[in-house]
Amino acid sequence: MNDTIFALATAPGRAAVAVVRLSGPRSAEALRNLSGSLPTPRRAVLRRLRRGDEALDEALVLWLPGPASFTGEDSAELHLHGGRATVEAVSEALTALGLRLAEPGEFSRRAFQNGKLDLTQAEAVADLVDAETDSQRRQALGQLGGGLSALYQAWRERLVEAMARLEAAVDFPDEDLPEDLGREVGDRIEALALELEDALADQGRGERIREGYRIALMGAPNAGKSSLLNRLAGREAAIVTDRPGTTRDVIEVPAVISGFKVLYADMAGIRDTDDPIEVEGVRRAIYWAEGADLRLWVVDGSGGPGANRETAEHVRAGDLLVLNKADCRDGPAVAAARRIAEHKGLGVVTSAALTDGGVEALEAVIRAKVEGLAGGDFPAVTRLRHRRRLQEAAEALRRGAMALQTGPELAAEDLRHAAAALGRIAGRINPEEVLGEVFASFCIGK
Ligand code: GDP
Repeated sequence: MNDTIFALATAPGRAAVAVVRLSGPRSAEALRNLSGSLPTPRRAVLRRLRRGDEALDEALVLWLPGPASFTGEDSAELHLHGGRATVEAVSEALTALGLRLAEPGEFSRRAFQNGKLDLTQAEAVADLVDAETDSQRRQALGQLGGGLSALYQAWRERLVEAMARLEAAVDFPDEDLPEDLGREVGDRIEALALELEDALADQGRGERIREGYRIALMGAPNAGKSSLLNRLAGREAAIVTDRPGTTRDVIEVPAVISGFKVLYADMAGIRDTDDPIEVEGVRRAIYWAEGADLRLWVVDGSGGPGANRETAEHVRAGDLLVLNKADCRDGPAVAAARRIAEHKGLGVVTSAALTDGGVEALEAVIRAKVEGLAGGDFPAVTRLRHRRRLQEAAEALRRGAMALQTGPELAAEDLRHAAAALGRIAGRINPEEVLGEVFASFCIGK
């Protein structure tokens, strides 16, 4: 933490401007050395940067003294001309002054360690940098603004309050405590557990916005999955041939629908086969489709009745039947597939991937589905890390509620566990808080 670090903050390569950031105790000294003197804090000034007698660049310079900086430390920014040689020369000069190149994420890490950001906000910085779609940007910005922190903090405060009541019962059994304390604490824990479980049962909304909704194209070989994928993706991402069984790997193609990232997957056609490579392809296809948010069951509408039997076994409620090759005359496959769709309650769309017919209608259905999945309040979970901790907290609360039946000591332990799990999401854990609550709400120690 005592090192003074620097890094190129803008993308590497040739550009009009390149921003180099500095942070740490020697920032002032480095800035004075390079630019002659320290500028007024937070005012951009034009300076000639020098290393000894040699001019390095004409740059816009910012002096950002701590603690009112991003990292909380003394910091500076150098807005250089964006040529590689300039960035290189300035980096060498900074190294010569005893600064070192920052490690990945080190600026945000320092901001976290100095209490400028909590962990979810630090994660949001990374998400904002990675955001490719509008929904990713909005979610990351909400999280950076404390969307998640506030939620976890509120849950944690309620838990700490319940714990305070319980700890009082454990530590001070002779004090006058309300008789129905057990029931009251029980109710509080129950209500909180329900809320956490509710937040967990969100179909992975927050994670999907970050990573993309997964849309599987499954069906028999030659149904037209690759052709359809290329239409949906708007480019020739997958190979189309009339030879069945050519797609073996799962081909994931990212796209954006209504500001949401989606991942289309073309995959091996599902059928019984002796070819070991194809068997593996089918296994991967089924595995990917199992975890998909939306599955398009693509059927060759011109085909025979038996062609789709092997895929039909994997079809489940919520899938969408896509009757492809609608430009050809309907074969017996259409009636068979429609019957299954009716039986399992699937939506049905017809398409002709070859001529682009019906693809717009299919896209509209996909759009509505994705918007439906993504809608709702700000998600409580945007990463697996949050989900694991939240799950841990919810389980500990349930255990605590059970333990309460036998006595406060065991329950208190479970609640502490739950609070620690919640606290770890934002990166704060503070047992003093619980003690503070004990004395504040019960006025013990008189
Ligand atoms: P996949 O094996 O399911 O990925 O199917 P492909 O996309 O490779 O298509 C198999 C064959 O069906 C190719 O010869 C395509 O040109 C053809 N095909 C795909 N979609 C249509 C369609 O809508 N109409 C017609 N007539 N042929 C299609």
